Amino acid sequence: MKERKLNTKTLCVHAGQPGQGAGPVVNPIYATSTFKFRDAQHGANLFSGKESGYIYTRMGNPTVKGLEDCVATLEGGAYGLATSSGMAATNTTVTALCSAGDHIICSAAVYGPTNTLLTTIMSRLGVEPSIVDTADLDAVKAAFKPNTKVLFVETPGNPTLVISDIAALADIAHRHNALLVVDNTFMSPILQQPLMLGADIVVHSMTKFLNGHADVVAGIIVVKDEKRYKSFRSVLNHLGGVLPPFEAFLVHRGIRTLLLRMKQHCENGRKVALFLENHPKIEWVRYPGLPSHPQYELARRQMKGPGGMVSFELKGGLEAGRTLMNSTRLCALAVSLGGVESLIQHPASMTHAGMAKEARLAAGITDGLVRISVGIEDADDIISDLDQALAKV
Ligand SMILES: *Cc1c(COP(=O)(O)O)cnc(C)c1O
Repeated sequence: MKERKLNTKTLCVHAGQPGQGAGPVVNPIYATSTFKFRDAQHGANLFSGKESGYIYTRMGNPTVKGLEDCVATLEGGAYGLATSSGMAATNTTVTALCSAGDHIICSAAVYGPTNTLLTTIMSRLGVEPSIVDTADLDAVKAAFKPNTKVLFVETPGNPTLVISDIAALADIAHRHNALLVVDNTFMSPILQQPLMLGADIVVHSMTKFLNGHADVVAGIIVVKDEKRYKSFRSVLNHLGGVLPPFEAFLVHRGIRTLLLRMKQHCENGRKVALFLENHPKIEWVRYPGLPSHPQYELARRQMKGPGGMVSFELKGGLEAGRTLMNSTRLCALAVSLGGVESLIQHPASMTHAGMAKEARLAAGITDGLVRISVGIEDADDIISDLDQALAKV
């Protein structure tokens, strides 16, 4: 609670780390699967909830708890639940909130496997999904049914960078007695705080900007109150997709520089987007920091910065895009995003290849779309790499 009053830069460094007093400066790795009880009564009290404390690492671990407190603080939430991946965060959330017979509305432009999870696995288990352009508020209103439990929104959406109005969607969801879940992976809590805009739950792939160093797969769920936290903790504990302490330690370390990194991602993203927009071989560029973005005003209102993700299409379409991706020397040809290094990839054949083609095209993910995760290298070096690769097209 006291931590809330500190500024974000300070919170990135200190949230969830040990406080004042003798002891370690950095929350250490508790490499232990289980914890000793004082006596039999203590063990019984921990299990019955009469006393709080650690029992078994799947149920909770001090290294993981430090990271959970850190991200919950940065998001302005009350509790975090670290998961083994971003997909585990989404799966745990949907499983905690929906039962067979329920309905869920999900953004059309989302991380590919999120779409696949809902349209294949969840639908097989009896949770019916509707895939909707959540930037279109009328389309969202029309999609609600009496059994709609969750509105799941990713904004900016992957990879089209379409932006959905979180405050308006929270209002619509609540009027229909549903909850708004926001995947905040593309922004990190530095650039967007969905809970502050009315969302009920935030999920992240911490694999991306939060960890920021492309060396961990991890996820997290942030909730606003203890009741939901307890019910989610029980679901996560029984599904089992928890984050191990080594990974939690690395992500917590990554977050100490999150604010600095996000500033650099925004600065470089802007420069790369401008360069591409002015290049004669480029057909179009989508970046929330360019006035050409259809929702530029909403982006400025809702986000504290445009981030490091840029999508574009070459005039020569897919073939030209392939030549470009095969010609970069600095930007690595790889999926994932949000790390310190720049990555380039082709969603239609890579991250979103699992989506049905019609659904993919309906979401604006064209065959020629190329996505760059702009890293924190020198912007001129990234641009000159793209320039030499474009010269080969
Ligand atoms: C990567 C990603 C996910 C899934 O995260 P994993 O850690 O790979 O499981 C979910 N949402 C978004 C927006 C992502 O970029």
